[in-house]
Amino acid sequence: MEKLSYDIVIVGGGLLGCATAYQLAKRKAGSILLLDGNDIASQASSRAACLLTRARTKPGLMEIVQETYDCIEEIEAMTGEELGLQMCGSITTASSDASLKGLEELEAAATRFGIPNERIDHKRLKELLPWIEADAVGAASYMPTDAFIDSASLCQGYAHAASQLGVMLKPNCKVAGITAEGDRITGVRLQDGIEISSAVVVNAAGAWANLLMRPLHIGLPFTPVRSHFWITSTDAERFPVNHPFTVIPDARAFTRSDVGALIIGLRESQCQAFDPSTLTDKLEDFDFNQAAKWTVLDECAPLLKAYLKDIDTLPIAHYMSGPSCYVPDAKFVIGALPQYVGLYTVTGCCGGGVACGGGMGRLAAELITGEETFVDAALFDPMRFGEVDPFAPEFQKRCADARSNKKGG
Ligand SMILES: Cc1cc2nc3c(=O)[nH]c(=O)nc-3n(C[C@H](O)[C@H](O)[C@H](O)COP(=O)(O)OP(=O)(O)OC[C@H]3O[C@@H](n4cnc5c(N)ncnc54)[C@H](O)[C@@H]3O)c2cc1C
Repeated sequence: MEKLSYDIVIVGGGLLGCATAYQLAKRKAGSILLLDGNDIASQASSRAACLLTRARTKPGLMEIVQETYDCIEEIEAMTGEELGLQMCGSITTASSDASLKGLEELEAAATRFGIPNERIDHKRLKELLPWIEADAVGAASYMPTDAFIDSASLCQGYAHAASQLGVMLKPNCKVAGITAEGDRITGVRLQDGIEISSAVVVNAAGAWANLLMRPLHIGLPFTPVRSHFWITSTDAERFPVNHPFTVIPDARAFTRSDVGALIIGLRESQCQAFDPSTLTDKLEDFDFNQAAKWTVLDECAPLLKAYLKDIDTLPIAHYMSGPSCYVPDAKFVIGALPQYVGLYTVTGCCGGGVACGGGMGRLAAELITGEETFVDAALFDPMRFGEVDPFAPEFQKRCADARSNKKGG
């Protein structure tokens, strides 16, 4: 490594680290080094279902998602690379009183924020999505400007743009520890013993972030929870790529057409949390409990059957699982850690780092540079739960429960 001193070191080259690097570089925040123990975009950020759902009812989230859409445009213009955004639209359904109330709130939020949305009847629903059993759907809202994007391409887009703006990217360079003197951050120590000095360190190490915080006696309020989806065999006529993706709260499900197959996301009633200390350096070496591929499908498929009649017999070609970092209140963890001057984190993605990464990175960058923030930073304050022990099973269960209750996209 040529240079051993930077203004800012970011640990983690997934969506959140790369988006933060891009946002900091855009603000000319100084010399920036981004380190990843693996390849850039190779971990959780290459396993996503890739939905960029715009309408949200939680405060600050629509602004955050909009920032991601803005980043995509900016980066394409800046680097000349197409990131492959597919504006397929989305359909959210409601078949119970509770989900109808949720749908009305979502539509109201979308309208307030200027996101086009249209209540559609069964005829229009079948035109847009011929495979769906329209009779099972009580109400449906179509949002034509929703999109999806390959998450690894988006992550590489942030990384290329950051690099073009001067950020030094170092993949395959694992950080062994964050260093401090007294209450001040001094930098990071690499696995081979080399020390890099920096007054600011941003922990964007995803599922591993608490392993780096542990020696500093800091617990970030999240735990890795298994997210997963199934992909059917190809049937390009039935599942063409331009179909809207769906969010079906009454089945705790989402679907998306992808290269002629259907991606089916299902949330089990009891989501599985993982103790961060059991994680391997590479997700491909980690056992996400592959048996879940069939047990969870068996648990959840009956709920989806009303909408996708042949789910029992549809050939399943692939299963994808990975960690999403869930927080008890299902909101992100972004900001300064008051225990050390110069220590920041951007994590706790709650399954939304593709849609929200651009905005999460912007908020982190604004907090680091001391700018006024574009959303209320207190919502995402890492200390809002007080001291937590992310290695304690009771805390991990609280985090898993936040995902078990998730119904949205
Ligand atoms: C199955 C699945 C489906 C999903 N679907 C969606 C979706 O549809 N829409 C959406 O918005 N989001 C979705 N997500 C969530 C999204 O993938 C995550 O929010 C996002 O990838 C998180 O990015 P990250 O940067 O925090 O983590 P990662 O991509 O895992 O990056 C963290 C990086 O830190 C590095 N690292 C860790 N420790 C160290 C160390 N000591 N030294 C150096 N580097 C280190 C790792 O190598 C890794 O590359 C999904 C996730 C999964 C698993």
